[in-house]
This record gives sequence, structure tokens and C-alpha cells, in this order.
Amino acid sequence: MRATRRRDTALELAVRAQLEGRGNEFRVDAQPIPALGRRADVLFERERVAIYLDGCFWHGCPAHGTWPQANAEFWREKIRTNQARDRDSDRRLRDAGWTVLRYWEHEDASTVARDIHAVVAERASRGLSVQRSE
Ligand SMILES: [Zn+2]
Repeated sequence: MRATRRRDTALELAVRAQLEGRGNEFRVDAQPIPALGRRADVLFERERVAIYLDGCFWHGCPAHGTWPQANAEFWREKIRTNQARDRDSDRRLRDAGWTVLRYWEHEDASTVARDIHAVVAERASRGLSVQRSE
């Protein structure tokens, strides 16, 4: 893991703590597909579930993503680029057999953790075609 993390939002920390409390094993800030070169915030490698906890500003949350007045063009472009990359990552991961879950920074940590736990448990119980030995 890198020494300097991209970010550790309150939601990330709270969700991770709750998942750990449920006995879930996962990786943090890891790449689901190395060739893709993009990290997921939380990763369940064996179950192939990649989780993204998107910041409301950087990813343009429809509820309260604000579009700055100053340098409006720059920020619009920046946020749109982020959104396009998010959609592209989602598509590539799903094509590779991953389940992708995205949540907004403003969402309730308990609800998010419960949702993630349910999806991971479902993936695990479904029986994975490819079992990894490590
Ligand atoms: Zn939001």
C-alpha cells in the first residue's frame, strides 16, 4: 500500500470500521485490475467486488455537487472528466466479471456498510467459478 493515500474521507473510515466489525476481509485503495491502473477505495478480491466512495464535489453529486462560479469552465471540465472516467471504470470492471458498487460521500455509513456486506455475502455464497489460492 502506498504511504500517502489519496484520501481518507470520514465515510471511508466509518464504512471500513463497520465492515471490519462484521468480520469482512478486504483491501483498501487497491487495484482490481492492474492493467486498468485505477484503484478502488475498498476491494473484496476473492468475491470480486470493487467499491468506490465518491466525493460529492469531485464526482459531481446530483444532490449537492456544486459547480464553482470562479473558473467555472475549468471545474466543469474537471468534474465531467472524473465522471466519464468513473463510467469507463465501471464498464471495464463489469466486463471483467467484477461487481462495482458506488456510493456518495454524503450517504449514511451504516446503510452503505450493510449494503456492501449483503452484496459480498451474496457473491461469496453464489460460488465463485475462479477460486484464488492465496
Ligand atoms: Zn452528495
